[in-house]
Amino acid sequence: MARVFNFSAGPAALPEAVLKQAADEMLDFGGTGTSVMEMSHRGKAFIDIHARAEADLRELLAIPKNYKVLFLQGGAAAQFALIPMNILGDKKSADYIYTGQWSKKAISEAKKLCKVNVAASSEDQNFSYAPAQSSWKLDPNAAYVHYTSNETIGGVEFNWIPETGNVPLVADASSHILSRPLDVSKFGLIYAGAQKNIGPAGLTIVIVRDDLLGKAMPSTPEVFNYKVQAEADSMINTPPTYAVYIAGLVFAWLKKQGGLAAMEKLNVAKAKLLYDYLDQSEFYQSPVAKNDRSRMNVPFRLKSEALDGDFLKGAQAAGMVELKGHRSVGGMRASIYNAMAIEGVQALVKYMQEFEKKHA
Ligand SMILES: *Cc1c(COP(=O)(O)O)cnc(C)c1O
Repeated sequence: MARVFNFSAGPAALPEAVLKQAADEMLDFGGTGTSVMEMSHRGKAFIDIHARAEADLRELLAIPKNYKVLFLQGGAAAQFALIPMNILGDKKSADYIYTGQWSKKAISEAKKLCKVNVAASSEDQNFSYAPAQSSWKLDPNAAYVHYTSNETIGGVEFNWIPETGNVPLVADASSHILSRPLDVSKFGLIYAGAQKNIGPAGLTIVIVRDDLLGKAMPSTPEVFNYKVQAEADSMINTPPTYAVYIAGLVFAWLKKQGGLAAMEKLNVAKAKLLYDYLDQSEFYQSPVAKNDRSRMNVPFRLKSEALDGDFLKGAQAAGMVELKGHRSVGGMRASIYNAMAIEGVQALVKYMQEFEKKHA
C-alpha cells in the first residue's frame, strides 16, 4: 500500500524515515530483545533514549541552561490549567491574548484558577489576524502573559515575539514549535502537545525558566508539578515512553535535515507555494491577514461551499487526505508541518489547479 499525503492538523504525519526506523527497531531495540514499549523506564536503555531526546531538543532550539525541559502527559490542554497552578505564585491575575479557539480554551481553564485579563483580541474580525503589540493592554502586575503563537484552527501565526518586560511570556507553540529557530530566552515558558510537529500524541513538552519553578499551588498534583517533575527528570511516574522515543527519532531526523534554520527555509518555500497560488486565484480564498498567515496551517475556502464535498473526494482519490477544515471554520485546511515534503504541497496545488479549471 502506498502512503498518502496526509494534511491532518493533528495527530499529524511523521517523517517516513522515522516510521521506518521505528519499524526496524520494533521487535528488538538495539539488541535488547524487547520493544521500547516493553522496557522499564528506569532501565539504562530507556534512560539513554530519554536523555538523548532531551539533549537533541536542547540543541535544536538552543535552549539556555537556566531552562528545564519537561516531558509530560495530558496534552497541551492540560497545560491550560497547569500553567496557572504552577506559576501564578502570589499573583492574582494573568494576561491572555485572545486569538482563536485554542486561546479561548486556555482562557476558560485559567478563569477557574485566577483572574484573567484579556489584554488583546482579534475577535472583532473573526480571529483572522494577530493583534499588534501596540493594541495590547498589559497589566504590569500580571503573573504572566499567555498567547497562542500559532492558532492551529484559524491558521494565524505570530511571526514576532511579544515584548512583555518583566512579566514572563508564556506561549502555546503546539502547532509550530520546531518549524523555525526560536529565541527561547525571550520566554518564561513554552509548551506544546507533541502530535502536531513533534511526534505521537501522549507527550507534552514544557520548556520552563528556572525562576518560575517552586511556586505551585499546594493542591497541584505531583505529576503535574513542574518543580517536582524537573527534579525527577520528568519521571516522577511512568513517562509516555514510546512517545518520547519517537519524538527523539524526530529530533535526530531534524538535526540530519540541517536543524531548524534549514526546516524554516523549507517551510517558507512550502507555504509560499500554497499562498501564492491562493492569492492569484479567483476560485480559492484565504481568510487570514497576509502578514499573519501560518506557515503550518493553511485554511482556505472554495468559491462555493457546495463544492467542498467534491473537492475532498477528488483529493482523496488523488492520494491527499485530511483536508477538511475545522468544523468551527468550515472550508479546507492544509496542515503542512515539518514532515510534509514539498512534493506534497506541489501535488496539492496541482490538484487545486485542475479542480479550479473544472469548476470555475
Ligand atoms: C492541538 C492543540 C491543542 C490541544 O492539544 P491536546 O494535546 O489535544 O491537548 C492546544 N493548543 C494548540 C495550539 C493546538 O494546536
